[in-house]
Amino acid sequence: MKISVSKISLVCAAGAIALSAWAQSAKQYPTGYSDTPLIPGQKYRVHDDSRPRPRVVTPGEFSTEAAPGKPPSDAIVLFDGSDLSEWQSWKGPLGFDFIGGKGEIGPPQWKVEDGAMVVVKGAPSLMSKRKFGDVQLHVEWASPQEVVAASQGRGNSGVLLMGAYEIQVLDSYDNKTYADGQAAAIYGQYPPLVNASRPPGHWQVYDIVFEAPRFQYGKLIKPAYATVFHNGVLMHHRREILGPMRHKLATEYEPQPAEGPLVLQMHTNPVRYRNIWVRPLDLTENER
Ligand code: MG
Repeated sequence: MKISVSKISLVCAAGAIALSAWAQSAKQYPTGYSDTPLIPGQKYRVHDDSRPRPRVVTPGEFSTEAAPGKPPSDAIVLFDGSDLSEWQSWKGPLGFDFIGGKGEIGPPQWKVEDGAMVVVKGAPSLMSKRKFGDVQLHVEWASPQEVVAASQGRGNSGVLLMGAYEIQVLDSYDNKTYADGQAAAIYGQYPPLVNASRPPGHWQVYDIVFEAPRFQYGKLIKPAYATVFHNGVLMHHRREILGPMRHKLATEYEPQPAEGPLVLQMHTNPVRYRNIWVRPLDLTENER
């Protein structure tokens, strides 16, 4: 067989193109740099190759009306629909009087029904066995489908961080009440930015970032802050909390331990909760 010169050059040209494409794909990208300027105020350079990479967390899945989602891999699950093993009952004061207050701890008395835990009228509030400081908290709740009262009498409960700082739970769907007492309010202090409530009986979601207050020698050195999303809509953006929750009274800080339990309030209405998880936060994790 006779191969023409032009055919050989064609094959060579095709080979050269393939080789250059391979060289392109094999281009080495540096994983970082060691000759860039320092980031002001930090010990690392811009794109520093020696800077620790973040921990890997497998993300969860979002809930639907029919089914709860899944928490991220590093979350502490406080309720997954099966039992109340992470909880105990708290018969005692909440909010301002919780700090240093006396109460009775016992077995949890709320019901677990269809994958939800349900407030039982007359039973004490529910308190987590674990204690937390700075956290990301995910809580889903549903007010009773049947509307039996108005204002604060309708689907009332509450999420109390450290037993003291309340993000209000209330059926605020077409239900007039005082602004700083409606759903997602920092109770008695700030109304939410907007009202994104779902109708009674539907599952609603709170995603909260809470920074615990800091005390030194009995004095407040940093107040608490809360960022709150209700059904994915921003309600509070790192809002400074003025002190523990109080009803019909202005508040101020009281020295307290660095960590405290999560409390879900019994306020007589049969509010349901599901898919509760917490991620304790180290907010300086990316500064070291
Ligand atoms: Mg409440």
